[in-house]
Amino acid sequence: KSVVAIVGRPNVGKSTIFNRLVGERISIVEDIPGVTRDRIYAQAEWLNHTFNLIDTGGIEIGDEPLLIQMRQQAEVAIDEADVIIFIVNGKEGITAADEEVAKLLFKSNKPIVLAVNKMDNPEMRETVYEYYSLGFGEPFPISGSHGLGLGDMLDEVVSYFPDTAEDQMDEDTIYFSLIGRPNVGKSSLVNSILNEERVIVSEIEGTTRDAIDTHFEREGQKFVITDTAGMRKRGKVYESTEKYSVLRALKAIERSDVVLILIDAETGIREQDKKIAGYAHEAGRAIVIVVNKWDTIESNEKAMKEFETKIRAHFQYLDYAPIVFLSAKTKKRLHTLIPAIKLASESHAKRIPTNVLNDVIMDAIAMNPTPTYKGKRLKVLYATQVAVKPPSFVVFVNDPELMHFSYERFLENKIRDAFGFVGSPIKIFARRRQ
Ligand code: GDP
Repeated sequence: KSVVAIVGRPNVGKSTIFNRLVGERISIVEDIPGVTRDRIYAQAEWLNHTFNLIDTGGIEIGDEPLLIQMRQQAEVAIDEADVIIFIVNGKEGITAADEEVAKLLFKSNKPIVLAVNKMDNPEMRETVYEYYSLGFGEPFPISGSHGLGLGDMLDEVVSYFPDTAEDQMDEDTIYFSLIGRPNVGKSSLVNSILNEERVIVSEIEGTTRDAIDTHFEREGQKFVITDTAGMRKRGKVYESTEKYSVLRALKAIERSDVVLILIDAETGIREQDKKIAGYAHEAGRAIVIVVNKWDTIESNEKAMKEFETKIRAHFQYLDYAPIVFLSAKTKKRLHTLIPAIKLASESHAKRIPTNVLNDVIMDAIAMNPTPTYKGKRLKVLYATQVAVKPPSFVVFVNDPELMHFSYERFLENKIRDAFGFVGSPIKIFARRRQ
């Protein structure tokens, strides 16, 4: 997916525009703990394009002076985005800070779409021509708070999207990546996996977007590991910030079937772990939880059970994800990782034949009758799997309103009991059928 970044001085209206472009999608994820607060990254749609949007204004770096902050935000945008929306304030005109940012953006050779915000009425739109002087071509007058002009601006943005055809993923290959806080051991684990004797690394290629894909084969199964962590040590200030590591994680998630969420056994679970994990879950990827640095723990069954209990309590929505305990450093228990990745990937791509699925659903209903609401009983006609990665099921019912969340959850559990789906989220949609 293409990435679009929004850049501009404080108070030009970046987050208003971000929220407008993202629309109601934000509310969909509101029930995932830790994900929505101070959100800086979300999916947006325009015409036939789905893209990822970054609000660089959300990446504040302490109490740095304005110009330094602006410079850092521009750097993030230049590094991360395919297209940059540069927003200026049409009520204030061009300021020194705007010019500073413009200079940086100009040098980047990235496509820049200049948007002049707060143009709330037609008379103001006349003044938009003075912004040609910034050198980014046609300025787009918009009003974030009134929702004006955004369509024209987006037409321009999507016209710069690269052809995605070259980014084909091979069906027989398992793509995976590692996400987690800084210093949790992502780079170490990538190295350990690739150095393991039974792994034959066939090819290492640099891809454009700050990620290295390494292809390897093991016992006849092809894998690609996407490493975004290894690219990070370039000494820029923002790279040590929490939010930047979230951006890194998002990039890794984007290109993966299976995401390994790394937890540091030594320091335990932190708020940031939950935020990062929430994004992986939301993206519908297969997930393996990896507790790294297990060598630092007095390791026995009991310690593992205790740590597992903690993880399950903190990451309730990831109850489907297997947990692997290992040490990237000593390679202790490292052999348990690849089987877990394979299992999660198989679950993610699994198809259940309709007749078998319906046997399970009908048994479930016989055991636990469907709910009633206002005197009306939910009737389930039949179910069918409509997609994989993640496995998605449509349940045809008399009235979708009657499908209570807890009943949906019950059906999900029955499907899991019958078919496993270890390591993969599954989705259930109720749809009306008379
Ligand atoms: P990243 O920021 O997530 O890529 O983390 P790194 O791979 O750079 O590792 C951060 C630090 O943790 C380094 O000092 C590693 O040597 C150390 N480390 C990584 N894995 C382990 C492990 O399994 N056990 C121990 N004791 N230390 C580890």
